[in-house]
Formats: sequence, structure tokens, C-alpha cells
Amino acid sequence: MPTSQERREALKRIYLEEARDCVRCPLHQSRTNVVFGAGDADADLMFVGEAPGRTEDELGLPFVGQAGKLLDKLLGEIGLRRSDVFIANTLKCRPPGNRDPQPGEIEACRDYLERQVELIEPKVIATLGNFSTKLLRADTTGITRLHGQAEERTIGTRAVRLYPLYHPAAALYTPSMVETLRADFARLPALLEAPAPAQPEPLPEVPEVEEEPVAVPAGSDQRAEIEQMGLF
Ligand code: URA
Repeated sequence: MPTSQERREALKRIYLEEARDCVRCPLHQSRTNVVFGAGDADADLMFVGEAPGRTEDELGLPFVGQAGKLLDKLLGEIGLRRSDVFIANTLKCRPPGNRDPQPGEIEACRDYLERQVELIEPKVIATLGNFSTKLLRADTTGITRLHGQAEERTIGTRAVRLYPLYHPAAALYTPSMVETLRADFARLPALLEAPAPAQPEPLPEVPEVEEEPVAVPAGSDQRAEIEQMGLF
């Protein structure tokens, strides 16, 4: 079982060595910052939204605009802070004008999300809205039918309890949807209390090659960037 320090280091490595300068899809041309994800690398609960919006793109952090404020509020109502969970998105870069993610972009980016899940090993993944729900369930059923119903799913190599929720941005202007989201949030503590799902049999071990830890000099720009993410 990796320590939380090891998980953080591994996430940091993916961010610094791959995601930060990612050019896997055309969104790299219009983004300001890659929004890799933020929170506790050892969290039992992970949220997966759709894609960064304007504020997230500017700051390099997920859910820091209006939808993020609602997310913080709903978390607070169940006794959690954003630093207790890990928050990521289906896409790590902002689609221009906040248009919907396109299939090629989702496919190009999914490996980052799967690796985040494998490293963090959350018990529960709450998908926010249609895009992350459809991606992680590998199915086209929409959020209206699925929200508030937890089910076991395997993401990459990891079995988790998947819990689809309405997207907070969709709920912002629809009071009845906020109440549904609030009621669904209220079931999260019980889901987190329940035993974690049994894990699939691991694949046979391949001998590991020793890797040097990423050395980030104090006072460097990289250090500032990592600290700004609030995560590492
Ligand atoms: N909406 C999302 O899906 N993700 C964010 O990070 C912000 C808004």
C-alpha cells in the first residue's frame, strides 16, 4: 500500500513530466493552464467533473468558479472540505467557449484520469454530470436516470463505487436540482463508511526499474506552481 507521500510524488511526476506540457489533443493550443486536479492524493472520495471553465483555465485549479462554490457548500454540509477529497475533470484543458468535450479529446485525456484513479485509489468516485458519468460507466445512459445510485465499476485496474451526481453548474440556476444534488450528497458519508469494493486479481508482477524522485529546487517556478495547486 503506497504512503500518501508516495501517491503525491507519483501524481506530481505525471503532472510535471507529462500533463503540464501535454499536446495530445488540439486543446493545448487554446488553453492557458492544464488543470490537472487538486486535493488529497490519499482521498477516499474523488470527484470527476467535465472540463475546466474560464476561471479554472486561468488559475490552473478545478472547480474554482461559481460551480466550485456550490460544490464547496455541498461538501461543507456533509462535513467535508475540498482538501479532504480529490477533484479532477474528464478533460484537463478548457474547451474554447466552454463548448462540450469532443470524443477525440475525451479519449486523448482518459489515460490521465485512469492513472489518477489508480494512484489515489479512492473508495468512491462521484461523477459530476453526463460526460464523466458516461466515460467512467462506458455507457450512454444519462445522468437524469442514474444520479444518486451507486454501483461498483472497474476504472482501469481499480474497482470503485461509482456515484453519479448532477453537475453543480447545471444546478446553479435550477433550485429543484440543487435540492436533488443536496439529497444525493447526503448519501455520500454512508457510501464512504461502507467497505471498499473487492479489488480484481492483480496482474502478474513485472520487475520494477528504480526511478529517481523528482527533485524540485526550493524557490523555483516549478515549486511555486506545485504549491499553487494546493495539492502537493
Ligand atoms: N466545471 C467542470 O466540470 N469542471 C471544473 O473544473 C469547473 C467547472
